[in-house]
Amino acid sequence: MKYIPLHKCSICKNLSESEYGYYSVSPSGSHRPLPIEANRLKSIEELGSKGQKKHHIKQCPFCGVFYAYDEHYEYDVTGSADELMLTRLTPTEAKDLMNARECKRRLGHLEEELASTHLVTRRYAAKGLTSHYLDQEDVEKVIRLLDSYDEDVGLAVLSYLDKITEQWWRLNNRHLIEQIARAAAKDETHKNNPLIKQIIWRCGLK
Ligand SMILES: [Zn+2]
Repeated sequence: MKYIPLHKCSICKNLSESEYGYYSVSPSGSHRPLPIEANRLKSIEELGSKGQKKHHIKQCPFCGVFYAYDEHYEYDVTGSADELMLTRLTPTEAKDLMNARECKRRLGHLEEELASTHLVTRRYAAKGLTSHYLDQEDVEKVIRLLDSYDEDVGLAVLSYLDKITEQWWRLNNRHLIEQIARAAAKDETHKNNPLIKQIIWRCGLK
């Protein structure tokens, strides 16, 4: 598949890193579907069982980026709803879905794309590289990215750290995130950012 940066992909440029929707099961019947472009992504497996329909991986037919699709049934006093989540995966998160050469190729493009003039591409590059550096246990490189002169890059790193620490107990690299959070807490640009405060709180550092 020919490489296309995110902002040139007619599907992906219209999807955020995470998309959220719901279908109310209550009589009021309110619903918020995922953006229409989500319907153009292809499932990478046959969706035979109910479980597969609710949790599976999709791929963009144009640029090849992978997405995790998850549906959860939520119930509360106001009624119940099916919550829909679509999350764009980094090459590292999707490394089992492609061969090592392809993964390396995509990571190489992300390094160039940190300097892209298109925000959607730059954000994905920052998120993808953060994910890769964490996988390599290279805390210094994550901190350098966070301290980037480009504020959007720093914010994309923080948003990604915020997203993955939502399920703190499931992380197997908590010690790395703690080191990054400690550094960010001292950083003039980020120390008052609500996201870093939240991450620090999840790390139990305060
Ligand atoms: Zn795409």
